[in-house]
Amino acid sequence: MNQDSSIASRLAQVQDRIRNAALKVGRAADSVTLLPVSKTFGEEAIREAVKAGVRRFGENKAQEIRSKYEPLADCGIEWVMIGHLQTNKAKDVARMASEIQSLDRIDLAIALDRRLQQEGRAIDALVQVKTSSEPSKYGLPPEELPGFLRQVARDLPTLRIKGLMTLAINAKDEAAVRACFRKLRDLRDQMRQEAIAGIELDRLSMGMSGDFEIAVEEGSTEVRIGTAIFGGRIYGDDYYWPENPAAARR
Ligand SMILES: *Cc1c(COP(=O)(O)O)cnc(C)c1O
Repeated sequence: MNQDSSIASRLAQVQDRIRNAALKVGRAADSVTLLPVSKTFGEEAIREAVKAGVRRFGENKAQEIRSKYEPLADCGIEWVMIGHLQTNKAKDVARMASEIQSLDRIDLAIALDRRLQQEGRAIDALVQVKTSSEPSKYGLPPEELPGFLRQVARDLPTLRIKGLMTLAINAKDEAAVRACFRKLRDLRDQMRQEAIAGIELDRLSMGMSGDFEIAVEEGSTEVRIGTAIFGGRIYGDDYYWPENPAAARR
């Protein structure tokens, strides 16, 4: 670990690595946005990041956005929902989030639209697509994407689709990880050909602490980074991607 391990210095280190990965493949150094992921970290750590210039934070549980929203109201934070969202929690996201990157099924899109209409708001949304064959990962199956985008564009005006999001396979095998990112970019290129009115697909949210440089090389416009900025978390991945309700409650 670097001697200076404050959140500000780790943010700067991650920014440097993002810029270097972009330059390596001939992309502009500033073509990739960093979304710090503050899940499980409290007010103090978030305020430290705010001081270092961060305004948007990713969270993957609606309850956690709700519990941080009021205490941090003075910081002017934009909360970005990036985790699996149960339909019955759509109301919290409609009220408190500036954006959702984990829009992964039509019943959720319908529930969010209804709540957003009630709030008189519209939010940006990325569609989470399943790009790995791991049975566990959430995401819309790629073959359902065209129909999904058409339905949102036609029926759900409060969701402004701006791009796609994915989680790569959780593997040491770099080629397998890279294939997931490439798949998302290819899907985006295919969907652009369809030119669905009202749908923009400029953004590709892909890459986390363990794989973001590969994601940037494959065209990511936005990386979601938790551990490399805030440090390790005490819970395992099943807490964040609960396969069953028992794991979610742990
Ligand atoms: C936790 C999380 C991240 C960040 O993961 P790190 O490995 O800590 O960088 C990114 N995306 C999603 C959807 C997450 O839940």
